[in-house]
Amino acid sequence: RAKANGRGQAIEYDPELDRERQRVAELETLLKSAIGAGAIEAVFQPLVSASTGTVTGLEALARWRTAAGNVSPEVFIPLAERCGLIDALGAHMLRTSVAHAKNWPDLALSVNVSPVQLCNPEFAAEVISVLRELDFDPKRLTLEITEGVLMTNPDQARRSIDQLKRVGIKFALDDFGCGYASIGALRQFGFDRMKIDRSLVSALDEGAKGADVLRATISLATALQIPVTAEGIENSRQAAILRDAGCDQLQGYLMGKPMSARDISGKLQEEAAA
Ligand code: C2E
Ligand code: MG
Ligand code: MG
Ligand code: MG
Repeated sequence: RAKANGRGQAIEYDPELDRERQRVAELETLLKSAIGAGAIEAVFQPLVSASTGTVTGLEALARWRTAAGNVSPEVFIPLAERCGLIDALGAHMLRTSVAHAKNWPDLALSVNVSPVQLCNPEFAAEVISVLRELDFDPKRLTLEITEGVLMTNPDQARRSIDQLKRVGIKFALDDFGCGYASIGALRQFGFDRMKIDRSLVSALDEGAKGADVLRATISLATALQIPVTAEGIENSRQAAILRDAGCDQLQGYLMGKPMSARDISGKLQEEAAA
């Protein structure tokens, strides 16, 4: 942080701030060439039916491996949003995950979409044209979005959502319970599914109140006839509580970690053989 001197006039030079800016600028350059080179990869995490335990869908998650190690999406997604790279990154993720999902014809595909993308008036038409080009049934696709966009640009968000829903694409409200999204927003924007945030699921390990909050949240969604996925399930006790509370879909390390397309194909083959 820049500091004022004793009299509150001159701004002191802060070498740490300079280094931080430089690191961000370097990361931005690297990210730009990684997207250009198609080096952002998709991994896939199973979505499992709560009643039968079978895999019914996959969520695509972006991975960026650099020479210096992996960069988390929690870092590079916000970076891409800030420096105007998110549309290109998002388009690449949609294209690669749809191309992979063509090998798994029985499964649904979920793709995360940034609020910034949804506010781009061209977004809906671009998604539809990618699906057409790759001959992918729009009914198999769910777009996961977080609530942010519903607050910042509700009108454009609604137009994009409506246009995409008309061709059969579904929408899930991601990370429900960790922000401001209301049950009202679920209905207002026509969400097809609610995803309960991992923080609410991990709270199950910390006391009885956690389970009460979850049950109340799930029953509100159920009253609106909106099915619920719980994310971040790591142990069977959590899974049992969520199943009893009415979640119809479970996701988390317990059911399966995010895996490469090749590992997913292997897992599906094993399951088919068993
Ligand atoms: P998300 O969409 O809510 O995805 C769930 C995150 O939780 C993923 O983190 C996943 O790896 C992690 N996770 C799943 N099960 C468990 C579990 O049992 N325990 C724990 N501790 N974690 C679990 P990831 O892959 O690091 O992604 C983080 C976030 O980055 C995503 O949250 C999503 O908001 C964003 N993101 C990832 N890929 C994309 C993308 O292609 N486009 C956009 N716009 N955002 C993306
Ligand atoms: Mg998601
Ligand atoms: Mg989530
Ligand atoms: Mg999240």
